[in-house]
Amino acid sequence: MFPHMVLNFDIGREKSLAALDTAMEDDQILMLAAQRNADTDEPNAEDIYDVGTVAHIKQLIRLPGDTVRVIVEGLYRGRIMEYVRMEPYNEVVVTTDNVATFYGQSETDALMRGLQDLFEEYAAISGKASPETLITAAAIKDPGELADIISANILKKPEEKQEILELYDALERMERLHVILTRELEIQHIEKRISMRVKQQVDHNQKEYYLHEQIKAIQSELGQDDASEHEQFSRRIDEMKNMHEEARDKAKKELARMEKMPPGSAELPVIRTYIDWLLDLPWDNESTDNMDLVNAENILNEDHYGLDKVKERVIEYLAVRRLTEHMRGPILCFVGPPGVGKTSIARSIARALGRKFVRMSLGGVRDEAEIRGHRRTYIGAIPGRIISNIKTAGTKNPVFLFDEVDKIGNDYRGDPASALLEVLDPEQNNSFRDHYMEVPFDLSHVMFLATANTLDTVPPALLDRMEVIYLGGYTDDEKVNIARRHLLHKQMKEHGLKDDAITITDDTLRYVIEHYTREAGVRSLEREIANMCRKSARQIAEHGKTRLRVTKANAEKYFGYVKYKREDNDRQDEVGVATGLAWTAFGGEMLAVEVNTMPGTGKLELTGQLGDVMKESARAALSYVRSHAILLGVDPDFHNKLDIHVHVPAGAIPKDGPSAGITMATAITSALTGRPVSGDVAMTGEITLRGRVLPIGGLKEKSMAAYREGVTTVLVPFGNQPDIKEIPDNIRRKLKFIPVKTLDDVLKIALLQG
Ligand code: ADP
Repeated sequence: MFPHMVLNFDIGREKSLAALDTAMEDDQILMLAAQRNADTDEPNAEDIYDVGTVAHIKQLIRLPGDTVRVIVEGLYRGRIMEYVRMEPYNEVVVTTDNVATFYGQSETDALMRGLQDLFEEYAAISGKASPETLITAAAIKDPGELADIISANILKKPEEKQEILELYDALERMERLHVILTRELEIQHIEKRISMRVKQQVDHNQKEYYLHEQIKAIQSELGQDDASEHEQFSRRIDEMKNMHEEARDKAKKELARMEKMPPGSAELPVIRTYIDWLLDLPWDNESTDNMDLVNAENILNEDHYGLDKVKERVIEYLAVRRLTEHMRGPILCFVGPPGVGKTSIARSIARALGRKFVRMSLGGVRDEAEIRGHRRTYIGAIPGRIISNIKTAGTKNPVFLFDEVDKIGNDYRGDPASALLEVLDPEQNNSFRDHYMEVPFDLSHVMFLATANTLDTVPPALLDRMEVIYLGGYTDDEKVNIARRHLLHKQMKEHGLKDDAITITDDTLRYVIEHYTREAGVRSLEREIANMCRKSARQIAEHGKTRLRVTKANAEKYFGYVKYKREDNDRQDEVGVATGLAWTAFGGEMLAVEVNTMPGTGKLELTGQLGDVMKESARAALSYVRSHAILLGVDPDFHNKLDIHVHVPAGAIPKDGPSAGITMATAITSALTGRPVSGDVAMTGEITLRGRVLPIGGLKEKSMAAYREGVTTVLVPFGNQPDIKEIPDNIRRKLKFIPVKTLDDVLKIALLQG
């Protein structure tokens, strides 16, 4: 009970009723004080607080059953000084020491206003005070009264109320209440926040649950069983035993991300494809190598005719692999003109080892991303060709052939060669990272091989990693054998013909080789044979024939008009024309050098798309002729009277290299002396200013070209003598090789008397 308050309560205790009666008979004044402990039934003086409120009884209602309801109004604070009696009721002496401390008016005002604000705020949050109370409180002018009213309305614990009651000083009371109210308010705020959060959480969970259920319902309505897709992925991830940990984590993470995505999301298929890629890589799959070298040799022989040296090198290579039991070491690179079997040797190696074979052509690869893939942030990104080939192979240790490494390019989109280096580097390739895959894949079990037509354009760093094996061109005899033993059978089978359907003699084959192909390898030959098979198949189908004979006489029916006539190569002795031999990426070539002289002032003109090296050797040749003019029987003053034009025909093909040196010198000398060059002679060799002849490369291919073109004598640099042994027997038998040391030697043989 606080002063200024009107309160009603029921009274039932004997003692209290007695006190009430007595008061009613007298001045209707009661001293109301609280019990320290509400549970005590017969409180003593010690059980009752000293400070209480003196109240005036306003009304009294007797209720049934000896209970009385009173309405009282608090008047002022009172302190019990002494108990006069305890029976039949408690009678006490009370002092009403009203303390009045004087503070400045403004401080009082500030405190009151603050209290009123706090009270309002509190009332708004808790909803505990009625609007009337608020209005009453706002109207109160007395600080003590304000504090009492507020305390009575909001304080819940009796101890707190008592504490306020015992504060006689109004301002002290206000301050104390201030503290209590502020704390209460804080608690109210926190409570409110917590309840909000709980509510939100509940709302959110409910919403999500509801939406998920809806999605499931929609999906099952559409026949898409998403849950099972997730399960499938998840099972596949678990089943993949040797998956790189990083890859496994990645797969799981992406799967979790996928699950959270709404069904129509554009990203969903992207993630699905990605996880598919991760799971499709052959983490677990490795084929066991067949290390039986005899078997390997048999297979190589079975697939290829000749190529003995190459086969030997391959077997040696495999033997080393077998001893070291790992695939580190240089990469075999097969170099040679097209159609000589580079790719098919690689395929045979795979077959011999029992490994899968994949081939990746580097021709025209200019973008690093082709090798290493695009980052997934690109729309439509896919892995590079290394990874996709590995996936195609289905094992992590296939034989992997980089075809045409000499055709690799580079431009602003990064350098594919350096990406390739990383792939081939045994120190790095056990954790090859494709841009798309993001996770490492072990390429160290892969056996890499490479092919090239020429080594000139292979990036040096790449060349460094490779062990080069040269495959020269084939002689006609070899070609006949290859056709007989391999190509015929292969093509007939491909065209659905029985082995005995076509009869063709070696002689006819040779005729075909001579008249329909002009190549170092056997690719055109294979194409011609395929032609023949196609035509035969038609005859068999249309005319019901079962056996056909292909002869020189009916060759036109099967192969069309003759493409190359060798009989025409009847070589003439000519002035100013010498025959050189060149080596190109496509094998050996004949190269005619023509020289014309005309009145002039000693100018040298060079035409025919000649490279710098070739131009220089033309100048060197001319210098030699000038300085040896008298010896050679040339007018020593020719350089003041004549212009010289050197031309190297044969299409618009750029030509370069030093090996045409002696040919040019011969042609120039011939033109100046008027002595013809023998048509039977072909030559190759670099020339020095002093007329020495230096060795050159590619002699085998060059001599085959000479043989093809029907020359009889070949002049080769003295230094190339050892290479003559490498030339196939049948060519050596037909061609006369004459080693030459100086240009003098050359001219003695090549120039006829005029
Ligand atoms: P490259 O890769 O050198 O251009 P390929 O390997 O594609 O040549 O060979 C072309 C065709 O010639 C293939 O069908 C191949 O089997 C065949 N071939 C080449 N050389 C031989 C050979 N020595 N024995 C049997 N077939 C051969």
